Amino acid sequence: MKVLETYEGTIQRELYSADAIAGAIERLACEIAADFRGQPLLLLGVLKGALYVVTDLARAIACVENGPSEVVVDYLCVSSYGNETRSSGEVRLLKDTTETVTGRNVVLVEDIVDNGLTLEYLNALMAERKPATLRSCVLFDKPYHRRVDVPLGYVGLQCPDEFVVGYGLDYQEVFRNLPYLAQLQPWVFQSE
Ligand code: 5GP
Repeated sequence: MKVLETYEGTIQRELYSADAIAGAIERLACEIAADFRGQPLLLLGVLKGALYVVTDLARAIACVENGPSEVVVDYLCVSSYGNETRSSGEVRLLKDTTETVTGRNVVLVEDIVDNGLTLEYLNALMAERKPATLRSCVLFDKPYHRRVDVPLGYVGLQCPDEFVVGYGLDYQEVFRNLPYLAQLQPWVFQSE
């Protein structure tokens, strides 16, 4: 797939194509739709990384027969990486949900899980608010450096032990709009 020339010059390899990602989203949508058949569902996208996952997933769920009775989409925003490729380990809530979580079927939608601290923090934050049910949905699982044993719920694709960009994932805020998942050339990080 042809993308911006400036992106092409910095990409080492494509890890998952846009089609492979779309297939994984469809599968996740079927699993979630089946579990919440006939019930209302609140999808909480974790920004910024999950911006495409949650929007594509919400539309895919709408196309599954006998799915939830309704789907509401809301967002929260956290930061743990700053501009680096290693997590600081400290999760900060930058924007809370606008929807009430109490008593609702909540699925937290994350882009990628690495050490697990972000998801653990968000699970705890949401659990305090007493949702009717709470699950998580993760598009990319990077299980090599887990620091906490956090339950993942719905999992899309396995990710290699690399810093990856694309489909919402950034490096220094760039590459989020790359339609596929990629690994960057090592020289891109040399200024770190
Ligand atoms: P964790 O707290 O599980 O280590 O990381 C969760 C967050 O770190 C993700 O939501 C994502 O924003 C960021 N992250 C983890 N691995 C990567 C990666 O390979 N690339 C990018 N761009 N962000 C990542």
